[in-house]
Amino acid sequence: ERADVPLEITGVSKRYAGSADRYAVRDLSFRVEKGQVLGLLGPNGAGKTTTLRMLMGLIAPDDGEIRVFGQAVRPGAPVLSRVGAFVEGAGFLPHLTGRANLELYWRATGRPAEDAHFEEALEIAGLGSALERAVRTYSQGMRQRLAIAQAMLGLPDLLILDEPTNGLDPPQIREMREVMIRYAADGRTVIVSSHLLAEVEQTCTHLVVMDSGRLVQAGPVVEITGTGGSVLVGHEGE
Ligand code: ATP
Repeated sequence: ERADVPLEITGVSKRYAGSADRYAVRDLSFRVEKGQVLGLLGPNGAGKTTTLRMLMGLIAPDDGEIRVFGQAVRPGAPVLSRVGAFVEGAGFLPHLTGRANLELYWRATGRPAEDAHFEEALEIAGLGSALERAVRTYSQGMRQRLAIAQAMLGLPDLLILDEPTNGLDPPQIREMREVMIRYAADGRTVIVSSHLLAEVEQTCTHLVVMDSGRLVQAGPVVEITGTGGSVLVGHEGE
């Protein structure tokens, strides 16, 4: 039954080399259940990106354990096909269409074309006819949407989005919200980081609030926002 739990983090700590005794993440434990949209919330430097990088297996924790669908995550181990991740700065070939870029990416994963669930993933991402245009004509928001569509290829059971609303304007942020809600509608699980409660409270079912590497609050959104928890989250821009 552990294989059904998208994410279980137990006592995880991380210090970067050279940062003396300052922890980027300190004794972090939480669990994400199937179908949840979990918002990882906290001001700049709270440890969100470090946490997400550890659960993607990009960096190793110093202590503790991370399990994704029951499997221990370790850097160097093959990325689970059940996980898709968006991190800022995905590169695209500007002269190719959005669709051609995604096809190229999928082929590079070495997985069969029919496993991509291309049309369904693209529909959820909501790129529409823009997919047939060259990426060089895209706005920043559109490029971000394309990178998220790329993370959705194969319709992974767990989708990880690191600050997907960064640099987007309010209408684009609303569209992003719709994309995440559509994605989770079929019982899939989403983990999204943000430093603004307002950006995620209408999207997420659950929140984990971090500050200075530690978990400050965790639980269903209604419990956290209903108790004035929003004051814990900084409102500084990026
Ligand atoms: P942001 O919203 O700015 O991305 P965050 O919540 O994602 O913030 P992290 O990027 O995880 O926070 O950073 C947590 C702490 O670790 C910060 O104090 C940061 O300066 C430090 N840190 C992050 N990356 C490194 C690194 N590669 N080397 C050294 N220290 C780092």
